[in-house]
Amino acid sequence: MVYIDAHTHFGMKGRGMPPNTPEERIAYMDRIGMDAMVTSPPYASISPDRTYDEANAFILNVQRKYPGRFYALARINPHFRRRAVEKAEKALRNGFWGIKFHPRNEAFPANSRELVFPIVEKVKEYGGLILFHSGEADFSHPTLIGDVAENFPEVPIIIGHLGKIYYMDAILIAKWFDNVYVDTSFCVGVHAIEKAVEYAGVEKVLYASDYPQGSVELDTMKVKLADLSRRDKALILGGNVKRILDEIEKER
Ligand SMILES: [Zn+2]
Repeated sequence: MVYIDAHTHFGMKGRGMPPNTPEERIAYMDRIGMDAMVTSPPYASISPDRTYDEANAFILNVQRKYPGRFYALARINPHFRRRAVEKAEKALRNGFWGIKFHPRNEAFPANSRELVFPIVEKVKEYGGLILFHSGEADFSHPTLIGDVAENFPEVPIIIGHLGKIYYMDAILIAKWFDNVYVDTSFCVGVHAIEKAVEYAGVEKVLYASDYPQGSVELDTMKVKLADLSRRDKALILGGNVKRILDEIEKER
């Protein structure tokens, strides 16, 4: 069974919660039997110039040092418009596996034609996935993410946190659009995971914890407690995200 956390964060010392070194994280992952983490800079690592340039460079180095253990997603502040698109293109060319968007942190609607679509266009061109923070009624509501998914059916899109209290919206978006997945980090509970499998299908559900802000143990336990088969749990705990990452690698 492959065990991969589909949504974590990684910041350098002073720019994110510890552990801040890849060695400390790998020691933790080895201890609990975790194969890999999909990871991106935390909000805390944004620089005074409001970019994630430094944070992205840090995380890319971590990935280069330990390929196969870390799958890095670049964070982009889309308000830089043309420059943001260039940053995204450069990140994808340099080996990032996709882009993490946080519509609330950077204050933009998830489905902005002006700010978001040109960046998703680059992900479509180079190959990769998009992880959206979700869970509030405003900029990151799952239905806005569904609008992005409908316009870019080739790009795998993950709705973070299973939409939190908007989990039924997140689940229906994942059911309607073949390219939409949900991650379980900070999700409201075991019943939300069971509902996601029932409506959207087990292949659409990705275990995640938002580590180190969230707890790997707690979010793994939510999957383990769900009324699902062993096969379904194995897919959620890593099989599904591995399949998505393998497809990206194949197409590149
Ligand atoms: Zn996140």
